Amino acid sequence: MIPYGRQDISQDDIDAVVETLRSDWLTQGPAVPNFERKIAAYCGAQYAVAVNSATSALHIACMALGLGRGDILWTSPNTFAASANCALYCNATVDFVDIDRRTYNMSVDALRNKLADAEREGRLPRIVVPVHFAGQSCEMREIKALADQYGFHIIEDASHAVGGRYLDKCVGDCRYSDITIFSFHPVKIITTAEGGIALTNNGELAGRISLLRSHGITRDPALMEESDGPWYYQQIELGYNYRMTDMQAALGLSQTARLDEFVLRRHAIAEHYDAMLRDLPITIPWQHPDAYSAYHLYPICIPAQISNINRRAVFDGFRAAGIGVNVHYIPVHMHPYYNRLGFKAGDFPQAEAYYRETISLPMYPTLTQSQQAHVIDVLKGLVA
Ligand SMILES: *Cc1c(COP(=O)(O)O)cnc(C)c1O
Repeated sequence: MIPYGRQDISQDDIDAVVETLRSDWLTQGPAVPNFERKIAAYCGAQYAVAVNSATSALHIACMALGLGRGDILWTSPNTFAASANCALYCNATVDFVDIDRRTYNMSVDALRNKLADAEREGRLPRIVVPVHFAGQSCEMREIKALADQYGFHIIEDASHAVGGRYLDKCVGDCRYSDITIFSFHPVKIITTAEGGIALTNNGELAGRISLLRSHGITRDPALMEESDGPWYYQQIELGYNYRMTDMQAALGLSQTARLDEFVLRRHAIAEHYDAMLRDLPITIPWQHPDAYSAYHLYPICIPAQISNINRRAVFDGFRAAGIGVNVHYIPVHMHPYYNRLGFKAGDFPQAEAYYRETISLPMYPTLTQSQQAHVIDVLKGLVA
């Protein structure tokens, strides 16, 4: 079975992890801060805090920005549930902003309209979480202008987008946001097995996120109320154990050396799909001129109206041919848990229409030319 995505682990990656296993530190050693510095430097952000998943990073990023009961967080419905769940962990309320038909990212027009309504009704969000779907940055310049106008914070969920660029700058430099999150799950661009990171240019936020990552416990005398001696530490907040291990960070450091290579390979695969699929009665992923995607995904759409074959038949045809295509995403508000919070079908029609048509084709650096040719042949057989 050709999967839709998979990691690329080299001998150097394996050696880096084994070296850590033989070292004095399995966790909280030198690899984690080295990895943090490397990702921060790569992106051009001042601070990076590595954690055990992007989900954890989203949670404590929200906490660091003061999200709590009575507050509202908005995100895109076309995402993994974690982008929204982080608000619920903080006892805040979630709402969604429908997507743009071309990029499948949060629509700036929909955001602008919803903000105007929310201001009238006194229910403006405290945090907006734009999600860089498939690795393509949202229109951050426009979203940041709205943040300045309406006074909300921005957390970029860039789980798909490490190695991507926006207006010729790295995603993760946080010039349009308070905090940016990456995921290092194995299907993402680089991996630490499980893992995530929060980037920011605000030292106070970075300090709060690192405190919350490790139980809310500090050894910094400046943060303590008093000190009993050199052994002393204090718990000053209710935090979590969200730490990344040194083994994971060593893998991440090693993978980061090939990040640009991975993204270039993903672009080569995307360009070949573009060229070979252009004349089929399907929609290939449109690229915004301001964005250089990390190409986590290559989502095509099988338009219900113009093709005599539907998405389900294409999906089944791929699977029968040994191609593990997938669907990204079931809109978050359509899940039963979110239905119980009051959301229903029809609430975000663009995300729902996109969901009914989409299939993610295999996209990962080790996809071979002959495997890609097979994917293209099978698709042509199914829709031509
Ligand atoms: C993968 C993903 C997450 C969660 O990442 P984990 O590291 O698995 O917790 C969050 N948001 C989006 C958009 C994702 O794709």
